Amino acid sequence: FEIYKGLKKKIEDLAVNVKVRPVVKATGCNGLCEKGPIVTILPDDVFYCGVKVTDVDEIVENTVLNNKVIERLLYFDSAKGKKVRSHKQSEFYRKQLKIALRNIGQIDPGNIDDYIERGGYSALRKVLFKMSPKGVISEVERSGLRGRGGAGFPAGLKWRQCAEMDNFPKYVVCNGDEGDPGAFMDRSIMEGDPHSILEGILIGAYAVGSEKGFIYIRDEYSLAIKNMTKAIEKAAERGFLGQNIMGKGFSFDIEIVRGGGAFVCGESTALMASIEGRVGEPRIKYIHSTEKGLWGQPTVLNNVETWANIPVIINKGAGWFSRIGSKGSRGTKVFSLVGKVRNTGLIEVPMGITLREIIFDIGGGIIGSGKFKAVQTGGPSGGCIPESLLGLGVDFDSLNEVGAMMGSGGMIVMDENTCMVEVARYYLKFLSEESCGKCIPCREGIKRMLEILEDMCTGKGREEDIELLLEISETVKEASLCGLGKTAPNPVITTIKYFRDEYLAHIKDRR
Ligand code: SF4
Repeated sequence: FEIYKGLKKKIEDLAVNVKVRPVVKATGCNGLCEKGPIVTILPDDVFYCGVKVTDVDEIVENTVLNNKVIERLLYFDSAKGKKVRSHKQSEFYRKQLKIALRNIGQIDPGNIDDYIERGGYSALRKVLFKMSPKGVISEVERSGLRGRGGAGFPAGLKWRQCAEMDNFPKYVVCNGDEGDPGAFMDRSIMEGDPHSILEGILIGAYAVGSEKGFIYIRDEYSLAIKNMTKAIEKAAERGFLGQNIMGKGFSFDIEIVRGGGAFVCGESTALMASIEGRVGEPRIKYIHSTEKGLWGQPTVLNNVETWANIPVIINKGAGWFSRIGSKGSRGTKVFSLVGKVRNTGLIEVPMGITLREIIFDIGGGIIGSGKFKAVQTGGPSGGCIPESLLGLGVDFDSLNEVGAMMGSGGMIVMDENTCMVEVARYYLKFLSEESCGKCIPCREGIKRMLEILEDMCTGKGREEDIELLLEISETVKEASLCGLGKTAPNPVITTIKYFRDEYLAHIKDRR
């Protein structure tokens, strides 16, 4: 923020005879978080990384006013082995395709005009003036968009189920309760482009016949809450929220609910209980939320990234969107790429791209001299994928097939120095602390598994414990009530499947 203030002051202090006074804007994260603070000078697209307050005068005098590039601030592209002038020339960005992240790093999230200038609220205008609610749902169905929050349920089908209910009021909900360690996809969208989420929700509300929405945001995300709150205020001022929007008879109101810090509240039924003011515990899903959700009324719940895709699908069409990605997983996916890669940050890639391309081209390969060992996808209950599967195309189904999952989009890269038994123990510890304890298989099963892993990590493991871990895993998966328990054993199952020798080494070390 000091750099932003410094640049603003320097520009304001320029002599009055400057022909066109440059504009300074604070934007959201453009993805390469690790190299920040980042300053981009437009229209030449000069991309500076690791900028310090002391660089401000030089940036304005040399680059802004005289088009001279400051070599030392340019981004070093490790894949190319040289510095690049524009972010578009870097391998980090070259293989990405930005739909949900289209505006982040380009606009000031607090300025609704910035959003409108880039086509914002034109999709809402289009649906209100030219499309019926049924037409909107068909478009989303034809796009093939699957919910980006974890399970990958088709978004259009969910909307249709809700729209077909004749029970009013109906609700739309945005899940911004991102709790996976190492994940910051939804946070970045809420911070950097809040209006795209709002516009998506408005379109969904129109399609299903809802007049009331909620955005459930993790309490720790203070900037996301601030930017979403401001976006709601500005949208209301411009007539995009409230009564009779754009004079088309559609009314919609939305409010923000702050999450109480429980990981399990990312689960849809627990999240809705929390909005209602009850304890955030999941319930059995024998009745879909589209039939009986919030306060027993028909409800559509999608996550931040899903909603952010909607305006683009409406504007560019289902045909355009469905040509991107792989057969069962259309479009793109946002990942937070972290761990032992050179370029950590926020990325958006077409579904079907291989893990190798993500880790070695976009991520720039393994940091330091270590070798790649595994990548964990899907948050704490995702799976660990070994080197032999680096050619895997990343989409909902392929990840499930190898025992991992898409989850909401966390991707943690590990090198040869990582102990996979310790990794499994770490995730189980996290999940045992976050289990709400409502059902026995999850509450007790995860605890027993954790005890076994702790014994292994402290030299007390027995060979038969490996089979015991797998046996308990099956029970926890089968008998747990919600997604947390059903997926919790994944890190154990995949590390035993792909790295059993490490478990055996721990046991042998004991002898
Ligand atoms: Fe709670 Fe775990 Fe049961 Fe889910 S599976 S309801 S988190 S105890």
